[in-house]
Formats: sequence, structure tokens, C-alpha cells
Amino acid sequence: MHTSRIFCFGNFVNGRWQRSINDGINVYNKYTNLGIGMVANASGPEVDAAVTSAYDAFNRKELDSLQRFEILMNAAEIVKKRKEEIVELLVSEVGKVYKDAAAETDRGIQTLIASAEETKRISGSGVPMVQPGYQPNVAFTVRVPVGVIAAITPFNFPLNLALHKIGPAIAAGNTVLLKPSEKAPLTACMLAEIFQQAGLPEGHLNIINGTGEVGRFLLADERINMFSFTGSPEVGRLIKNGSGIRKVTLELGGNAPNIIHDDVTDLERAVKLCMKNSFSNSGQACISVQRIYVQNRIYQEFIEKASAEVSSLIVGDPMHDHTDIGPMISEEAAKRVESWVDEAVDSGATVLIGGRREGAFYYPTILTDADASMKVVCEEVFGPVVTIIPYETIDDAFGMANDSRFGLQVGVFTSNLEIFRRATTELNFGGININNVSSYRSDVMPYGGIKDSGLGKEGPRYAIQEMTDKRLIVIH
Ligand code: NAP
Repeated sequence: MHTSRIFCFGNFVNGRWQRSINDGINVYNKYTNLGIGMVANASGPEVDAAVTSAYDAFNRKELDSLQRFEILMNAAEIVKKRKEEIVELLVSEVGKVYKDAAAETDRGIQTLIASAEETKRISGSGVPMVQPGYQPNVAFTVRVPVGVIAAITPFNFPLNLALHKIGPAIAAGNTVLLKPSEKAPLTACMLAEIFQQAGLPEGHLNIINGTGEVGRFLLADERINMFSFTGSPEVGRLIKNGSGIRKVTLELGGNAPNIIHDDVTDLERAVKLCMKNSFSNSGQACISVQRIYVQNRIYQEFIEKASAEVSSLIVGDPMHDHTDIGPMISEEAAKRVESWVDEAVDSGATVLIGGRREGAFYYPTILTDADASMKVVCEEVFGPVVTIIPYETIDDAFGMANDSRFGLQVGVFTSNLEIFRRATTELNFGGININNVSSYRSDVMPYGGIKDSGLGKEGPRYAIQEMTDKRLIVIH
């Protein structure tokens, strides 16, 4: 059953919801298209109040690391207790299928626990100070929080990606201003109450709702010390260019390649993993399998198995626990994907399966005969479309995989140790998965791309390094 609750969120400032939602933004269920809520559309004064709240809370320096540990563990426990409610809201506001929403919520709990655990491990290191003519002084570094962090998140994993910013930021002793996506802001807004119940004092987490316009006010406010952004490369570039001499981490897009060599140990497994991760979340994931390069000798078998696998996927109501593929975030997004597929077909690509749109649904689609000049190959599709391209030598496969402005993650299936060794140095990506797909991510690992895929790493331990400054202490 889709939730019939109507949610109403203003801006969460200094521990209270500011209820004014004049000219607010409507949020609707992506499957039923019925309204499920409204959020504020903040402008300058509201953003200013939120920054003041975060700035003052940071300067109060009221939480030690054990208190931060307890708050984060409490938050994990509350998310666990409220899981069903959170999952239903994720399904409604994103159109994410039930099992994926449940998986995201479970991951969010782990992100919180991992952040809590890191509160006890934030430390610097000893510095050898040996220099001719100087007494050898004792020196060491300590890690100090950067201050106020603006966290800007996308629509596709609205819970876990918000927690990947809030968790480490709080763990390190910072305060946070969260600006969730206007397309799916409700789950993130629930976090205000969750953290309050968990014991986080007022001002440490503030939530500003609104459009991308909010970014302009955030960038102009020099009390913000760091921007932690996840979203498209276009907006990431704006934030990088507008943030001046302040810290920035950017988790951006990708068009992830996956290489299936003819010595793959288990072709069946490779096909299943590739197909599942081409279409889960309707392909709206930065590490979604988008380009599959298959060695010529196993190409025919691969596409036959892939096609059979896709035929068994269930497209429909995301609230049903057997559904595999739900709607995209909007009809407009599905129309964009449709136009890219049509364009590819006009240029010579073949639709092996799918290639059909119904409202916001785009049916899982496999394209063959595609090449690097087509958007479905060289840009980020961010929809349920995958291309399967044959290759002869592993050099060809590495060349095609690297031929991209993105560099987030790559998957390589091989049983050849030499190919594995070469992959680690010759593939230009932030993460390389051997014998798994590009989409593999554990929440504790260092995660982040190179080139247009971003800057800096997430994963609580690594995000904390980004969200702290190294301070040198020398005892003379
Ligand atoms: P988006 O359009 O870039 O939006 C991301 C966030 O930025 C939203 O909160 C958006 O607000 C806000 N925003 C828009 N314009 C802004 C501006 N000028 N200044 C500051 N903030 C602004 O991305 P999306 O469509 O939500 O998400 C899809 C993209 O995110 C894809 O490229 C995907 O690959 C990437 N992504 C990357 C990762 C990763 O970890 N690498 C993970 C998930 C997604 P509004 O929604 O209100 O416009």
C-alpha cells in the first residue's frame, strides 16, 4: 500500500521546523502521481538563518567524541526501528522498488554505525623533525573539524547519501546544513527528527529545502567552510568554481564500463550481476552498469543470456516486493532517455530488448551495435539502458573503457592474473572491481571518482579526513 500520509516540511533551523512554506515545492508519489507533501522553497533570509544556526552551534563546541559516538549509534537504532516507514517513503518519493528501498535503509544504518565507530579513531600522527642546525623537537598532528559543512544531495539515494555526509560530519565535530534534492526531499527531512531524538543538540543539523537556487546563497556565505556535494558534473563544476578558498568534495556522475573477458570463471554469474545492476533503481545510479565490453568468443552467448535475464524482470508498482523496476524520477527524465535511445538507433544501434516508454517508465533496454560516438555510450544515461559491445583483445577493452570523460568505477571479469595486474594500473578509475560489476560499493570503503566523476572520497573514515584539517603542533 502506498502511504496516504501528507508530509509538510519547512526549513529545520536551530532545532525547530520553520513552518513557512510560502510558494513551496510539491512532492508527489512517482508511481501514482498523487501529492504526498510539500516543502519550503528557501531564499536568502532562510538560508542566512540556517547558516547562523550551524555557525553558532559549531562555536559552542559542546560535544566530545564519546557523545558524538552515542548520538550516531542512537540515530542508527532509531532508523532501524522506523525502517518500514522510511522504506515506504523512499518508494513513494523516488519510485524506487521496495527491495531497493529496504536495501538503501539497511545501508544507511551501516553508514551511521561506521560513522559512530570512527569518532573514536580520529587522530593525527607523530612528525619526525630532523633538520641540520635545529634541536630535534617533538611534533605531531591532530585532526580538527573544518566547521560548518554544506551538504548537497541528489534524488537517487536520498537517505544513504545524506547520511554519508551527516554521519562523518557529526563524527568529526562539524555542524551541517543539508540541502536535499527538491525531487525527493522527504526522507532527508525525517532525519531532523531522528537526530533530535538521538540527542543531537539544536543547530548541529539544519535542513534547507528549495531548488538549486539555494546553492547561490550557500556559496555566497563565507561562514560555510566546506561543500560536500553529490550530484551531476554540471552542478559540481558550479560549486567548485564558486567556492573559492574552501574545501570541496564532489561525488559526480559516471558511465561505468564492465569488461567480460573470455576466461571469466562463471559467465552466468557475470550476466546476472550485469543485468541486475544495469537496471536497478531504473539505472539511476552513478555506478550503474552502462557499457559492457564482451570478448568476441563469448559475445553471442552473453547477449543471449542477458536478453533472457532481462525478459524475466518485473516492471510495475514499486511498492510490490516482487517488482524489479519502477518508474524513473519523472516523465521528463524517461523522455530524455527515450530520445537518446532513438538517436542511437538512428545512428545504427540495435534494440535487443526494451526500447519502450510508458509515462515515467522506461523499459529495461539492451542496445547492441552501439559505438562511442553515441550519447548512450559516451555520456551518462542515468536510466535503464545498457550497451553491449564486442572486443577482440584486452588492450581494445581497456582502451574503450578508458575512453570517457568519467572515471568513477569499473568492473573486470577475468581469471587471468596478468589481466588483473594490468587492470590495477591501466584502468583510470577511482575504484576497480575485479570479478564484480562497477556498481559494487560497500559503505565503509573509500569511494569517489576521478576526471568528471569527482574529487575526494566518501565512506565515513575517508570523508572524515576530508572534513577535518590537519593541525601541526611543535613543542619547543
Ligand atoms: P543534480 O541535478 O546535480 O542535483 C543534485 C543536488 O544539487 C540537488 O539537491 C539539486 O537541487 C542541487 N543543485 C542544483 N543546482 C544547484 C546549484 N546551482 N547550486 C547548488 N546546488 C544545486 O543531480 P541529480 O539529478 O539530483 O542526481 C543525479 C546525478 O548525481 C547524476 O549525475 C549521478 O551520477 C550523480 N550521483 C553521483 C553519486 C556519487 O556518489 N558519485 C551518487 C549519486 C548520484 P534540486 O534537486 O533542487 O535541483
